[in-house]
Amino acid sequence: MDNNNYTPMMQQYLEIKEDYADAIVFFRLGDFYEMFFDDAILASKVLEIALTSRDAGAKVPMCGIPHHAVKPYIQKLIEKGFKIAIAEQITEAGKGLVKREVIRLITPGTVFEDGILDQNKNNFIASVILTEKGYATTYIDISTGESFITDNLVKKEALDLILSLDIKEVVCPTHFDKEFINELKQNDLLVSHADDYTIHEYSYMNHLEREQKRAASHLLNYLSKTQMQTLNHLMPFTHILKVGHMHVDYRVKKHLEIMESLTNSSKTTLEYWINHCQTAMGSRLLKAYLNQPLNDKKALNERYDYIEAFFPYKPREDMLEHLKYIYDINRIVGRISFQSVNARDLFQLKETLNHIPFIIDTLKLYDHPKIQTLAKDMKDHKDLREYLEKAIHENPPITVKDGGIIKDGFNEQLDDLRYTNDKGQSWLNEFESSEREKTGIKNLRVGYNRVFGYYIEISKGNTQFVKDEFGYERKQTLTNSERYISPVLKEKEDQILNAKERAISLEYELFKEIRIYVEKYTHDLQLLSTQIAMIDVFLNLAIISEKYQFIRPHLHDSRLVDIKEGRHPVVEKFTTFIKNDVVMDQGEIFLITGPNMSGKSTYMRMFAIIVYMAQIGCFVPAAKADMPLYDALYTRIGSSDDLSGGKSTFMVEMVESNDALTNATKDSLILFDEIGRGTATYDGMALAQGMIEYIHEKIGAQTLFSTHYHELTVLEHTLSRLTNLCVKAKEENDKMVFLHHVEKGTTDKSYGIQVASLAHLPKSLITRSKRILEKLEDKENKVSLDLFNYEAFEEENQNIIDAKDVEVLEELAKIDTDQMTPIDALLLIKHLQNIIKK
Ligand code: ADP
Repeated sequence: MDNNNYTPMMQQYLEIKEDYADAIVFFRLGDFYEMFFDDAILASKVLEIALTSRDAGAKVPMCGIPHHAVKPYIQKLIEKGFKIAIAEQITEAGKGLVKREVIRLITPGTVFEDGILDQNKNNFIASVILTEKGYATTYIDISTGESFITDNLVKKEALDLILSLDIKEVVCPTHFDKEFINELKQNDLLVSHADDYTIHEYSYMNHLEREQKRAASHLLNYLSKTQMQTLNHLMPFTHILKVGHMHVDYRVKKHLEIMESLTNSSKTTLEYWINHCQTAMGSRLLKAYLNQPLNDKKALNERYDYIEAFFPYKPREDMLEHLKYIYDINRIVGRISFQSVNARDLFQLKETLNHIPFIIDTLKLYDHPKIQTLAKDMKDHKDLREYLEKAIHENPPITVKDGGIIKDGFNEQLDDLRYTNDKGQSWLNEFESSEREKTGIKNLRVGYNRVFGYYIEISKGNTQFVKDEFGYERKQTLTNSERYISPVLKEKEDQILNAKERAISLEYELFKEIRIYVEKYTHDLQLLSTQIAMIDVFLNLAIISEKYQFIRPHLHDSRLVDIKEGRHPVVEKFTTFIKNDVVMDQGEIFLITGPNMSGKSTYMRMFAIIVYMAQIGCFVPAAKADMPLYDALYTRIGSSDDLSGGKSTFMVEMVESNDALTNATKDSLILFDEIGRGTATYDGMALAQGMIEYIHEKIGAQTLFSTHYHELTVLEHTLSRLTNLCVKAKEENDKMVFLHHVEKGTTDKSYGIQVASLAHLPKSLITRSKRILEKLEDKENKVSLDLFNYEAFEEENQNIIDAKDVEVLEELAKIDTDQMTPIDALLLIKHLQNIIKK
């Protein structure tokens, strides 16, 4: 149908929809947001609301939601990855067609509403573009103002960062690496396209280089296009460098259950056990630490120092008590900037500021130079607190346009209007009693409604007593009563209502002034927020360390590991943990054998998680922990099979192993658990041996390698830095007893049949299997491995192209030059060159 045949309002809708084809348009109609056509059909399903229709020149599908209850609906749509365009009425109703405009595009990455966001988590939106240094990734949390930029990542690292940060929306150029975009989509991320790189000089990116500014602008321009306002509250961009961080793939974090559980219970994550922060800012900072382990001794020792500083018990209870009253300063500041702040937010800000002097005093009780400095640097913003104290009512309403926000005494004009209004109220009371006397009608009552204003209500039984001389004029008939107005009442009404209405609109004007006043404190409050977050995190870590007996790691420059009585911080919560040592030399490889279920995997995870904890700046579960810093942690653990991604277990295993084998250095830590399980025995064993030899000769990384191929233990004879470890089990009356104790040496059996008997497989079957095994174990049939031979290894490794070069070649082969601008092509060549040169 031709658009002209629709009603003018529907034409207006269609025009808006044309500009926001990829979003669901919330079209404001009085007290409702309405959706039409396909949007309505889709939204009614997702939101489970009734689909109706509207006659707008033709029948149009429609559904709607009340504007005051819109949040849960927005949340639902955003979680499903939809964008929402909010089209508001921007002119007064009544005179012709109301003008409507989209005032904001809400997307999964740009939502900032309180109640929709998880307060303990950042909600970042990212953008990725290619620069000559590599994939530059910018990410911003517009609800808190935190902004970050990286500029020298390779594709895989950019992807990894995005997945690690649990980002929901990524902005990419229209013509961008298809593989990259597909990978994002496969992980349920919303990909938005934008190509505006215009650099606007904002103060928060003054310190960036030109290329970085270009990358940052790509995201900032998208944000200002969708939010339709400037983001004054953004903090200066933090430039994230690769050096100084430990490289950890998001899969590794998943395997180790750092923040995400492999089961449905959050109780199996490290975060669950070590995050007992009191404030949202603290929780988010700890999450950021958990997400980005460091490789920087000085920075880590500094974090350990803070934990130690917060150990003293005495001020602790006070500090915890005060932190409880601290609201989410960052997000309140964000809402001030977005002009979506309400009086309750400001009241909470004041409550927060009330506690700051106590926090500073409590900090002073800690006898530690670091905390003394913190106390000295912290400002209590007394002036702002006093200002808000004078301005904002206790427990004000959420709406900002209905009054009840501003305290008496804050503004003279407001006080006058309120006085007139109050006087009016008492006049009305007096009027009511004098009319009762005059008419003799005891239940006469003065009431108010929006349509008639003030009226006199008289019950049906008493209307007979109404006389002409009263001057009452009948206005409305109800079932049980009649309503009248009188000239005296109407005259007074004007005065009262005028005062009341003017007071309410003045309150709103004053509120806007207050908002502007508080906005000046944006950066001060953000600094305060950062300080609170730090106090919260380190106090929390101090308490956790004491409670769970974590100790300070000692980081040294040699590659030796000396961990005594190590424990797994999560497994120990569910069982009596058998402590184990990890004593490792430079470049040493542990080959760990032992029956299934004996604790090989747990031992490896324990070591990995101790390393991880040490490198986020946390104390560790051990009696002694002398250790080096690792530049990267690679794991191939457990069975997080990527079956939905269309890859087989074995393929996943190989992809993950390849990541370690191509990128690990002698300063990395590699954990391989049961490599080669997904294929035939000899195949798997051969691959496992090949990998061990490769790591030993080519990489020299410290490695833990568990295997059920106990045949591999003979490698000890030819690989000088390989040590056999085993987890012994005792056989008692044909039953297995797991000791979970790891020691040097080998196991000669895999105990599979014993484990099977534990699982109560039929007795006859077990007996038969034992007989078969005896036959197989007959000396003649034993596998004999082709043991390592240095010359042969070197020869085989000669004409082999480096894995990095293969990566570059593959990348070159995939390029679709038709889809690229010459600039992009140049950038890509430069980037690929850089990879080879490294
Ligand atoms: P494997 O890798 O050898 O098959 P796991 O490491 O998965 O064995 O351990 C099997 C179970 O044994 C674990 O779920 C855990 O409950 C228990 N376990 C392992 N190591 C220990 C330990 N050091 N202390 C206590 N229980 C342990």
